Amino acid sequence: MGRKFLVGGNWKCNGTIEEVKKIVTMLGEAEVPSEDFVEVVVSPPFVFLPIVKSLLRPDFHVAAQNCWVRKGGAFTGEVSAEMLVNLGIHWVILGHSERRALLNESNEFVGDKVAYALSVGLKVIACVGETLEQRESGSTVAVVSAQTKAIADIISSWENVVVAYEPVWAIGTGKVATPAQAQEVHFELRKWLKDNVGAEVAASTRIIYGGSVNGGNCKELAAQPDVDGFLVGGASLKPEFIDIIKSAT
Ligand code: PEP
Repeated sequence: MGRKFLVGGNWKCNGTIEEVKKIVTMLGEAEVPSEDFVEVVVSPPFVFLPIVKSLLRPDFHVAAQNCWVRKGGAFTGEVSAEMLVNLGIHWVILGHSERRALLNESNEFVGDKVAYALSVGLKVIACVGETLEQRESGSTVAVVSAQTKAIADIISSWENVVVAYEPVWAIGTGKVATPAQAQEVHFELRKWLKDNVGAEVAASTRIIYGGSVNGGNCKELAAQPDVDGFLVGGASLKPEFIDIIKSAT
């Protein structure tokens, strides 16, 4: 089964209205492969979602960087999944390592968020990944499997889920995983899905890589058989994001 390449741009907590408009204009002018070959999803901070949604070229999509774990209500400062749907936002990134580490989001909490977001019709980019300490102690596969299991335990369909393998030691550090390191973990994640969810889900679920991807290293990573795209942080704010989108072909 073919897995369409997906490139996500995580803008994190960056930007002003002027900067956001500049990025959207840059994206609008770019010549990229058609939607049949690559799906592009950019993820601005919450406050810029409406403006990006209204100005972005129609073949690119918009994701939120987070949403509340259940139906909205008395949860000061949170943004609900229903609100995203109401805005016409179809995607959300959940379980990013910055939120897991800085805001103590547990595997189970991330699993609950994924399940709730799916239940209201959102598509989810669910992030997993090990710290340097965990890699060095040989527990990479155990860590990402446990993070994936917490999601698998609570969802009934993987149709609208993309898994982003983002080694924490590679995020924002300039230390990208080698193509072999990325392929090895993506292979193990796909095997985990096959053994624990099913062969069809394993074959069809996209597993994208994130962590210091840039215009120079994307081609080799994209050539790995189990790498189905990228989640890009820093480089998604720059013109090289276009080169990363083009690495799909
Ligand atoms: C990210 O934040 O998801 C990420 C991959 O960041 P960077 O590309 O900057 O390492």
